[in-house]
Amino acid sequence: MPRPKSLDHSEVLLLYKRLQTTIAVAKELNVSTCAINKILKFNNVEIVAPQGHNPSAKASSEFIITHILKKGGTLPQAIESLCLSVSEATVRKYAKERGIDLYQYKFMGTKVGPFVVERPGWKRLNGSVYVPMTCLACGTENMVPSRTFTTDLNYTCKSCGARTRTDKRPLNTSGGMPKQIDYADVIALFKKLQNQAQVADALGISQSSVSRILQMSEAND
Ligand SMILES: [Zn+2]
Repeated sequence: MPRPKSLDHSEVLLLYKRLQTTIAVAKELNVSTCAINKILKFNNVEIVAPQGHNPSAKASSEFIITHILKKGGTLPQAIESLCLSVSEATVRKYAKERGIDLYQYKFMGTKVGPFVVERPGWKRLNGSVYVPMTCLACGTENMVPSRTFTTDLNYTCKSCGARTRTDKRPLNTSGGMPKQIDYADVIALFKKLQNQAQVADALGISQSSVSRILQMSEAND
């Protein structure tokens, strides 16, 4: 276990002078904004809070909502990173007044390989969550399973064959050649997902290919 990071106050103060915001300093040192705020307060440094020193619940909520609309992410994350003391329920109330569903912004800004979530919105289908991601290699929007963010699932762009994980050998050969399927990929993914349709979707191949490969691998066992 690495020892918890103890912050050098003079380094924090110097960085704050240069960067001017607690968020920038926190990012630079890879710690929470609250940790930076505490050190600044301890050293009697005047901190300019987002909306003055004692922002009202409404002002804090508006600030958080603007942050999420721009950067995405979850509400607890935004409250924590902006170091504001306002309840989630209050922020959601103000967001609702403006007709904004903050849950829709959860994945915005997420990047995986050449894919990025550029807009809010996601949908649940057969127990899986699908997120609209733009493939930066070709500009096409794909509905990518959110499992791709947390597992080693490798999603393939429906249009150009770019993959979320670039460290693996690509399945597609260029120039309209028939698709080369990595059998080991299919078998490993099926072990994990236990669902042929999901494996086919994740690898951008047909479900019949998946079932053929699985049958062959069983025959060889
Ligand atoms: Zn693409």
